[in-house]
Amino acid sequence: EPVLQVEGLMKYYGRGGWFVSREPTKAARDVSFAISRGRTLGIVGESGSGKSTVARCIMRLIDPTDGSIKVGDTEISTLSRQKLRPHRRHIQIVFQDPFRSLNPRWTIGQSLMEGPLNFGQARGEAMARARELLALVGLPEDAIDRYPHQFSGGQRQRIAIARAIAMEPDVLVADEAVSALDVSVQAQVLDLLDELQRKLGIAILFITHDLRVAAQICDEVVVMQKGRIVEHDTAANVLGNP
Ligand code: ADP
Ligand code: ADP
Repeated sequence: EPVLQVEGLMKYYGRGGWFVSREPTKAARDVSFAISRGRTLGIVGESGSGKSTVARCIMRLIDPTDGSIKVGDTEISTLSRQKLRPHRRHIQIVFQDPFRSLNPRWTIGQSLMEGPLNFGQARGEAMARARELLALVGLPEDAIDRYPHQFSGGQRQRIAIARAIAMEPDVLVADEAVSALDVSVQAQVLDLLDELQRKLGIAILFITHDLRVAAQICDEVVVMQKGRIVEHDTAANVLGNP
C-alpha cells in the first residue's frame, strides 16, 4: 500500500501573469508514480528534466498546475496552507545544501528539537529524542551543543537527515542529498539512509542526476526527460548492475 501516490502531476512555470506572450515552461508533464513503506524510488534525469519541480510540488513548496498528490489517504495537492500544516510532517526533505535545513545560528540540539516542539512535544522529551537521533546518525553526544559550522559536510548532511527524521515522516525526499559530497563520504551517507530505512520503515524518494549513486540505493527508478517520465522499472533494469 503506497504512502505517497503521485498521479498526472503537471507544473507549468510562467503561465498567466502580465507577460502572457511568453510560452510557459512545462517542467512536469503527466508525472505518475507511487512509493511504499521501506522502498526507495529514484528519480533520475539530466539537469532541467524536472526532478526538483516534482520534489517541490510534493513538498508543496510550489503549487502544482494539475494532478493528484496523495500522502496516505489525504489529497494534499489542493489543501490550503493551514489545512496542510498537520500533514507536513509526514513528508520531510533533505537538500543538497544542509544549510537549507540547518540554521547556522542554532545549536544542533535546537535544530533537532524545533519541529517536534512546534508539534507540541514536551521539551524534555524533545531533548531526549534529539540525543537518540544524534546517536542514530552516528554523531557524538556533545554535538548537541555545537553549531553546524563545527562539522564536516558529511556530518552536516547527517544532522540534516536527523532533523528530517525527528518529525517521524513516512516519506523522506532526498533532493541531490549526497551530490555535493566526496565519493567516500557519499557511500557513508547512503549506508546511513539504508540503515534508517531498515530501522524505521520509511519510504525514500531519492532524486539525483548521478546514475551511479542511484544504482547504489534505489529499488526502483523513474527516468525524467523534459518533464516527462520516459522509463520506470527496477533499478537493475534501468541502470544495469555496475
Ligand atoms: P531538475 O531538478 O531536473 O534540474 P528543474 O525541476 O529544476 O529540473 O527544472 C525543470 C525546468 O523548469 C527547467 O527548464 C527549469 O529551467 C525550469 N524551472 C525551474 N524552476 C523554475 C521557476 N521557478 N521558474 C521558471 N522556470 C523554472
Ligand atoms: P535546484 O538546485 O533546487 O534544482 P536551481 O539551481 O535549478 O534549483 O534553481 C534555483 C532557483 O531558481 C529555484 O528556486 C528555481 O525554482 C529557480 N529557477 C530555476 N530555473 C529557473 C528559470 N528558468 N526561471 C526562473 N527561475 C528558475
